[in-house]
Amino acid sequence: MTGVQAEALLHPTPKGLYCPPGDFFIDPVADVDRAVITHGHADHARAGHGAVLATPETIEIMATRYGEDFTRTRQPVEIGEVTTIHGVTVWLVPAGHVLGSAQAVVEYQGTRMVVTGDYKRRRDPTCLPFEPVPCDVFISEATFGLPVFRHPDTAGEVRKLLASLSQFPERTHLVGAYALGKAQRIICHLREEGYDETIFIHGAMKKLCDLYGRLGVDLGPLADATVKDGRGAKQDFAGKVVVCPPSAMNAAWARRFADPMTCFASGWMRVRQRARQKGVELPLIVSDHADWDELTDTVREVDPAQLWVTHGREDALVRWAEVEGRHAKPLRLVGYEDEND
Ligand SMILES: [Zn+2]
Ligand SMILES: [Zn+2]
Repeated sequence: MTGVQAEALLHPTPKGLYCPPGDFFIDPVADVDRAVITHGHADHARAGHGAVLATPETIEIMATRYGEDFTRTRQPVEIGEVTTIHGVTVWLVPAGHVLGSAQAVVEYQGTRMVVTGDYKRRRDPTCLPFEPVPCDVFISEATFGLPVFRHPDTAGEVRKLLASLSQFPERTHLVGAYALGKAQRIICHLREEGYDETIFIHGAMKKLCDLYGRLGVDLGPLADATVKDGRGAKQDFAGKVVVCPPSAMNAAWARRFADPMTCFASGWMRVRQRARQKGVELPLIVSDHADWDELTDTVREVDPAQLWVTHGREDALVRWAEVEGRHAKPLRLVGYEDEND
């Protein structure tokens, strides 16, 4: 395969990755006629496209976040279901990132390209595990694409939270977690560690937690983190777990709880300075993205003829690949955020 063929099948544009023969974009950052969406995070899945092809779960997530009219035409496709768009074969394969997340496999005239969207390799009780697909061009994310990023064992991080709960039974444990994926994953991991008490959730998370439940992810007993009026209400949450979006952790909302212990579940908690800046007392290093080892192991496993690297620390992964004797290049796509890790 030559690079020219690959460039003709998928190439970066200001609106995102574009497939000229199929006339569609993957995770476009602007309104387009036809979009293939890898997963429901806001920077990948936007409202306003003419048509959206995605897993049924991602379609449900988009409808929950943006309203039923988020697109004119919905095209839900099951994992592994093969469709054709203007002669270009497209199918979706699990990415292990959040519920419904998928890699997009695009094949045309003998060239196969795989767009990972965001992905991780470690176990996540809320979604299907990443599946490596042999391909000519592997387009990988690189959110944590620096050797310094090595995520610890997730269960160990969740046990830190449980240890703190028993050590400080008078304090509300306020866990900042992104509303799609991370929040539900933390809840599931707490359940796996045997925590069966009611977990309280911020109002902004209710619809997505309900949707996870409807889609078969059992989150156990949940209740709204609503403080009753009157004296003593703060004590209702002493020793409890309250899960909220990161933005709520330091807002006035957080001060209604009993001596809140601020915890933040994020891959960025590896960086102590970030934890300090955000006033996080108990950093939990839990990420929905591949760390350095997962990224490099995955490239070796997929063993593509070419590696293209997108949002994140592109240059380090490209350099690593070149040292390994691989063809690699950064895509320099813009419009993706790396806070929703
Ligand atoms: Zn994502
Ligand atoms: Zn992303």
